[in-house]
This record gives sequence, C-alpha cells and structure tokens, in this order.
Amino acid sequence: MRVAVVLPERAGDRSLDYAVPVALRERVAPGSRVRVPLRSRLTLGTVIEVFDAEGSAHALKDIAEVLGDAPLIRPRLMEIARWVADYYCSPIEAAMACVLPQAVRSGEVAEKSVAHIRLVRVPDDEGWQKLERRAPRQAGALHALAGEGGSAPLPLAQLSEKTGVSVAVFRGLARSGWAEVRSLAVRRDPHQGEHFIPTQDLTLNEHQQEALETIRAAIMTPENAKPVLVHGVTGSGKTEVYLQAIRTVLGLGKSALVLVPEISLTPQTVERFKARFSSEEVGVAILHSHLSQGERRDEWFRIHSGRARIVIGARSAVFAPLDSLGVIIVDEEHETSYKQEETPRYNARDLAVLRARLEPCAVVLGSATPSLESWHHAQTGKYRLVTMPLRVDDRKMPLLRVLDMRRLGGREALLAPALAAAITERLAKREQTILFLNRRGFSTSMQCLACGNVCQCPNCSVALTYHRDAAVLSCHICGFSRVAPKSCPECSDGGIRFSGVGTQKVEDTMRKLFPTARIVRMDADSMSRKNAYRETLGAFRVGEIDILIGTQMIAKGLDFPSVTLVGIINADLGLHVPDFRAGERTFQLLTQVSGRAGRGDIEGEVFVQTWTPFSPSIQFARHHDFEGFAEQELEFRSNFGFPPYRRMALITLRSSSLERAEFCAETLARKLLVGLPEGVVCGESAPAPLARAKSYYRFQVALRGPSGRALARHIRATLDALPMPEDVFVAVDIDPFGLL
Ligand code: ADP
Ligand code: ZN
Repeated sequence: MRVAVVLPERAGDRSLDYAVPVALRERVAPGSRVRVPLRSRLTLGTVIEVFDAEGSAHALKDIAEVLGDAPLIRPRLMEIARWVADYYCSPIEAAMACVLPQAVRSGEVAEKSVAHIRLVRVPDDEGWQKLERRAPRQAGALHALAGEGGSAPLPLAQLSEKTGVSVAVFRGLARSGWAEVRSLAVRRDPHQGEHFIPTQDLTLNEHQQEALETIRAAIMTPENAKPVLVHGVTGSGKTEVYLQAIRTVLGLGKSALVLVPEISLTPQTVERFKARFSSEEVGVAILHSHLSQGERRDEWFRIHSGRARIVIGARSAVFAPLDSLGVIIVDEEHETSYKQEETPRYNARDLAVLRARLEPCAVVLGSATPSLESWHHAQTGKYRLVTMPLRVDDRKMPLLRVLDMRRLGGREALLAPALAAAITERLAKREQTILFLNRRGFSTSMQCLACGNVCQCPNCSVALTYHRDAAVLSCHICGFSRVAPKSCPECSDGGIRFSGVGTQKVEDTMRKLFPTARIVRMDADSMSRKNAYRETLGAFRVGEIDILIGTQMIAKGLDFPSVTLVGIINADLGLHVPDFRAGERTFQLLTQVSGRAGRGDIEGEVFVQTWTPFSPSIQFARHHDFEGFAEQELEFRSNFGFPPYRRMALITLRSSSLERAEFCAETLARKLLVGLPEGVVCGESAPAPLARAKSYYRFQVALRGPSGRALARHIRATLDALPMPEDVFVAVDIDPFGLL
C-alpha cells in the first residue's frame, strides 16, 4: 500500500509518495494526518490518496506515524477538495481543511463525556432504615434518584442541580454500591433545551406547486437534471417549497443540505426547519461560524454517522459529510457571504452546483434577486428556471417611494419630511418601522474646517469613523481606534466638522424627533453581547420595539408581520464603489430590504432616500422589475466584457514595503503576458482601490478570460515560476466578489 501525502512546507503543493507499513494500514485513509520523513527529519502531512498497488511501493520511504484514527473522508469530498485547490489556486492543505475541519481532525477536539448516575439497587424496608441511620444524606440522595424513575443514566451535575443534593453525596452512594457512576459521551447541542412546535406541510399555491414539481423531477432523476433556479419574490413562499422538497428526499431515504447566508442563520430560519422535521426520525444538524469547536465536532460526527440527515449551514456546510444526498438547496444564492474571503477563496454556491453534479443530486438555487451569473445560465438553458412572481395569499408587493434628497436644499438632511411623517403615522397606529443604513458609527469622517485635515487611519487608506457612544474614532478595516480629538490634531483648530451619517446618528436623530417611541439600534457595535441579536428580534416580534434601526444585519430573511414601513436612509451608499457589480448590489439590497415590509395583512410601504433618483438600480427596484434590471445590466456587462460573459481573476499583492509590493506586481503583470491563453487579457498592475490596509501596501493585477479554469492554470503556472520576496504576499481570487 502506498499513499500520496501533501506537506504544508513543500512549495507548489505537489504530493510525495510514501509506503505504509503493514502495522499502520488499518488506520490510514484519505485525510489522515501522518508524520513522514522528509530530508533528515519528520514532518507533519496529510494523506490525499491511497493506492493499493503492492509492488510499486518497494523504493519508497515508510510513513513513520499516523495521528489518531482514520478520518474517513468520503471520496467525493476528497474530489471536491482537489477541485477547490486546483480551481481556486489554493494549497491542497487549505482545501483539505475545509472537508476536514480542525474540530474534527483526529484527536484535536475530544468527545465530551460527563459523569452519569444510574439506579442500580433499591433497598428493602430494613435496608432503607439502615441507610437512613448510617448515612442520612445518602438515603436522601437515593430517594431523589428513585424519584427520577427509570434506569436510564442521568447526568450527575444536572441531577444535583435539580435535586439540591451535592454531587459528592451521589458519588458516595455509588461507592456504597447503591448506584453506579459512569462517564458517558454527551452531545454538545447548539440548540440545547429548545423545543419546536411541529408544523404541517401547507397547501401549495399554483406557482409553488410548479416549483416543487420541477425540483421533484430533478430529485428523481438527478443524473441528467439541470440546476433549478427559483426566482421568487420576497414572501412568495420559497421556503415552504424547500421544506416539501426535503420531505420528498427523506422519503427516498436520502439526505438534504440547505445553505443559507450566515446572516440568515437566525433562530427564525433554523426553527422553521427544525419544527417541520422535529417529529421524524431524521436529525437536523446546524453548521455555522458561531459554533464552539466542541459543538462543531459533535454536529460533524452526527452528520458523518448518518444520525443527522438534514444539514442547514452557512457556506462551509457545502463540505458537510452527508451521504446519499438527494438535494442541495442554496437560499439567497446571490449573497456575497457565500464567497470565502480567505484561502481557499471558494464560492459555496458554485461548489454546490459542482457537488450536485458529482453526487449526483438535485440542486436548487433560490432568490428574489438572482445573481446575474445564475440568471444568465437560466437564459442560456444551462439552468432550469422557475418563477414565483406573487406573494403568498396575493399580498401586495410594498409600494416603493423614491425621495429625491437633492430637493431638500443641499443640507445634509438625514430624514426627508415625507419619511418622518410616515413614521409618525405608524407610531400612532402602533405599527412597526424598520430604518436601514448600511453604515455603522456616528459620522463617517471628521474634517478640520480650518486646515482641511481628515482624520485617517494610520494603517489603512480610509477615513476614521466617529463613534459617539464610546467617544472614539475607529477604523472599520483594521479595528484601530483612538480617542476622538476635541480639536484638529494637525492645526489645533477647534472647528471640526463631522460628515457622513452612520446608524448611531440615525438613532440619535430619531430619539430627538420621536422622544416617546421605543427605538433600538441593531449593528455590529450594539449587538456584540451574546444573545443580544436574538433578544432584540424577540422583543421586536412581540411589539416591544416601535422602530428598529440597523445595518445589513436586519436586511435579510426577517419576517415580521407588523412591519408596515421600511425607510432606506441612503440608497446611494453602495452605488459609488469601484466595482462593476455596484448596480447589481444596490438593486439586490433595495429589493431585500423592502421585502421586510408588508409581510402581514396590512400593505407595506417603503421610502427610499437617494441623491441619484434616476439610477437604474433604484428605478427598476421601485417597479419590482428584476427582469428589466437584469436585461439592461447584462447588456452593460456584455459590452464591457464583465462576468457573466467573461470570467475574472484578481491577484492582490501586499507588502509592508511600498516599493516591493509595486515592483513585484509589475513583474507579475509582465510575466503573466507570456504565454497568455487564447482569449485571456491581463490588465496592468495598479494600486488596489483600498491602497493600504492593516499596514500593508496593496497592488492588484486583474485578468479576464472565457474560462475560470484557464485563468487559474495560467496564474498558477506563472506564480510557480516566479519566486516572491519573503515579505510580499500574494492572494489569488478566481471569480472575485469584492474588488477592493
Ligand atoms: P420566501 O421564502 O419566498 O420569502 P416564505 O416561505 O417565508 O417566503 O413564505 C412567506 C410566508 O407565507 C410565511 O409566513 C409562510 O409560512 C407563508 N406561506 C408560504 N406558503 C404558504 C402557503 N402555500 N399557504 C399559506 N401560507 C404560506
Ligand atoms: Zn485601519
């Protein structure tokens, strides 16, 4: 037996072959962590492939040691890991870490076991009397234990808390032979103690039925099924369709994977899935970045062992070790949070499509505002399109009013009178309002009126944001913060002007305008306390809050029937960023945010404040016209050679030395021109839009071409042949989302 091993310290990610001594054979599998001899010492590596070939192993060195038990990575996931490393230009080690998370790697996080106590013997009358005389506390403990009934082991600590008898007394009881204390494995359940009220399948409307039939057909014959793109307006009942598709899958004895953006992994979403399937013999596992290592490990093994057949998770869950998958559902498929912004820079939506093809299983991408990539695939017949154009029960789409802020006379007005009046009206009617602004802090810049100096981050090329509650200036890129100066740090003049509005200022203004209203702000600053998010949403749901102000944290997935008004404080924020997707993002955000209004019986209203009222994103969003928006946006993309018509790759070089970063970027751009594959164009190196971040100078080289694979291959080959100085770091991003 022979294995291919990758070693993190070896350049170029090529694997090395080793022989496996007979004694270790049982424990070696793809994903095993092994120590192998390299030059004259032992090095840690990961097995990526196992070959049975007996004869060929004779000239190879032996593996020295295997760490832990065989990890059992399914061959399909192994295949995905290799694909990820190849396509996203990532070291195979990093890709392996996705399919085999650290929490799972043999032995790195242990199973949790706690002391349990079992009732073993109940004394007869005489025995009771004896015990009561000799050890009255133990007698009391035995009574308590008997009172718990049954012979199932009970966690000792829990029993002690419940009965008020100390753990030591119970242990004494065990020592005297009346009970037995044993250490048993327990599951760390992220939803410990929560109860879900079972829900029934709803009777679907015509559009839902059609969507379900299409998905079912793909589930039944996954070999030749196309990915299904469900374009359904907010509130059209997509989730209900997913739930019923999952029921079909379970009926076939298969499993289901549901991906949602991290931000939508609210208790509300999880609850809908748990509640529907809580009464069945299927486990629902949750995977997201806020799990503890222990919870993650336990959820992973529940999935791996088949005890959980439904997995709901954020992007990393695309690697969940489910067996016999029937369907993968990607909700809000356009979301940027599916893209991992560190190596490997994969897009979980794209991997879902890939995995579905390999399994094979059905794959469903759903959104009210599909990404133009997916929409284009639907137009060209690569995906199967299903449309759900109406809200459930014929609820109307909210009315969007565009407020032209230029008419307010150039003042930096925060609230147009029409929006203020609408809020007043809602307060009087005891209906709820959501105000949205995708920018936290109080003011986004602080400028001296005398010398013009703007307070900048010392580490990044951005202005510092003023946070009034903590009286600090802070950087949203690197986290730097300093006490807010009373006068200009450059010229000591006292005339400092704050400009640019953040959520704190909105809150402040709202409190002044509506002193009796119950107002809560929801952003990364105010929600840092554990459970704060959950509690606030709970309070909002039961009507204890009149006005909820927030960043994108409140834009998605929330379903509150009493919200009848949504105000978008500044719709232009995302429009003026250097990104060809700026228009698409703005359209998506406006549609998603306005989707929060009018989900109950009362019609919703949305006010959009803007200084560019005629920009296409705003106009098409206003008319709920996704197709119109997509058509004109695709024309622009096609004319200028942007995705989805071309694939893109972005290489970012960073260094603490400006000269070296610049020089290496120029050299790389020049080398990339050599042997450029057919149809590929390579731009010149240039400072990144965010020219400096976290003390690093940043330069970029962008490439475009007909296929992502060809771009990746060319970039990898060029980089392999171009040694970089030690303090220059290169990040390759294939199909990038953020261009900063
Ligand atoms: P989406 O995921 O498209 O935003 P949801 O699935 O959340 O829409 O549905 C919106 C609301 O309508 C939810 O409260 C849901 O329970 C309800 N709903 C969905 N389908 C039906 C149906 N067929 N009949 C009645 N109510 C439904
Ligand atoms: Zn900074």
